[in-house]
Amino acid sequence: MQNLQKIKDKLQQYKIKPSLIRIKVLEYLNSTREHPNAEKIYKKLLKEIPTLSRTSVYNTLKLLTQKGAIKEIMIEEGEIRYDGINERHAHFKCVKCNNLYDLKLKCKSCLEETDLNKVKVMDEHIYIVGICKKCLKKGE
Ligand SMILES: [Zn+2]
Ligand SMILES: [Zn+2]
Repeated sequence: MQNLQKIKDKLQQYKIKPSLIRIKVLEYLNSTREHPNAEKIYKKLLKEIPTLSRTSVYNTLKLLTQKGAIKEIMIEEGEIRYDGINERHAHFKCVKCNNLYDLKLKCKSCLEETDLNKVKVMDEHIYIVGICKKCLKKGE
């Protein structure tokens, strides 16, 4: 129950009215580190809400993204995944298993501060592409 209140608080913090589907989508995205795409989110929530429509999931994701409660991650063209972790972090994509891992960032920015002072940063995406530990082990 405490978790539910947390989700509601977060929605309120981003000025989003808490509806069942918004709560469920955000709850799922906050609990996973898999960075699911819309289809995966739909299938997962369909088990809990049998009347759920694909459109309402898409609309909810759009709203949550616009308000800043979640992040859209575009890795490849046509592949949008969603991230409910709001702390700044980078992503590592494995080309073998297609998993997207979170990487912690140490410094405030990897860019020259002077270049950033002249612009307004609205969004930031840092990707690293490679082969993950597990897949490297398999390949040995
Ligand atoms: Zn891998
Ligand atoms: Zn992430």
